[in-house]
Amino acid sequence: MIQLRSLTKRYGKFTAVDSIDLSVTRGEIFGFLGPNGAGKTTTLRMIAGILRPTAGTILIGDVDVVKDPLRAKAKLGYIPDRPFIYEKLTGAEFLRFVAGLYDQQGPDVEHRARELLGLFDLEEWRDELVESYSHGMRQKLIISSAFVHRPDVIVVDEPMIGLDPKAARILKDLFREYVTRGHTIMMSTHTLEVAETLCDRIAIIQGGTIRAEGTMAELRTQSEDGTERLEAIFLKLTGEEAQRHLMQVLDA
Ligand code: ATP
Repeated sequence: MIQLRSLTKRYGKFTAVDSIDLSVTRGEIFGFLGPNGAGKTTTLRMIAGILRPTAGTILIGDVDVVKDPLRAKAKLGYIPDRPFIYEKLTGAEFLRFVAGLYDQQGPDVEHRARELLGLFDLEEWRDELVESYSHGMRQKLIISSAFVHRPDVIVVDEPMIGLDPKAARILKDLFREYVTRGHTIMMSTHTLEVAETLCDRIAIIQGGTIRAEGTMAELRTQSEDGTERLEAIFLKLTGEEAQRHLMQVLDA
């Protein structure tokens, strides 16, 4: 459903994403992990059509994001890591506005918006201005906005940040139900427990290149004893220096 071929992004001479290839299949939750600055947000923003690749191809279904951005974006919902919401709209107005961007309006949209706001305990806030929402409430509203037009693919950058445990549980269940209905979700996360328990497949990126990719079972096979938790696999691939640096700092 999402195909990246030799996808590259350079900022001047710095290569943030270095010729990566990935395929995300219809009906799966795909986890995109990596240390800070690895290239996750850059990749997700290119998939969402917000950032133009330096080289390579991105396909959503059979639609090329660079050549046919409007058709590609019509298939997509994108939840950025730092979302922008119009403060002077109410929650209900914001969802109506987003659905309108995708040419959707009417009773179905109203019904879906009400259901989503109810799911995230925002029903009582639907007619309040977003400026009065807490950080977590804004996050729940922006997540709702990605579902309101029922896109084929949802691309989401760090969805769990700011959510309380109940909302995080609801979001995990919503993601699972959504892909069960034939949609596709690609998400970045630093929460390895979420990746381990929720994602069907995982890719680990570091320094702009893919270091490992597969199901949890496949990642375990690639690691030494085949029984490790994702944290151990992740740190082995990306952070084995961390312990040594810690000693250097403390002993300095
Ligand atoms: P984090 O987990 O910290 O959010 P990330 O994996 O999402 O990190 P990116 O935001 O994709 O990382 O950044 C990848 C690299 O590209 C980083 O080294 C970052 O400094 C660099 N970078 C990102 N945006 C720009 C920009 N506009 N100009 C120059 N360099 C940039």
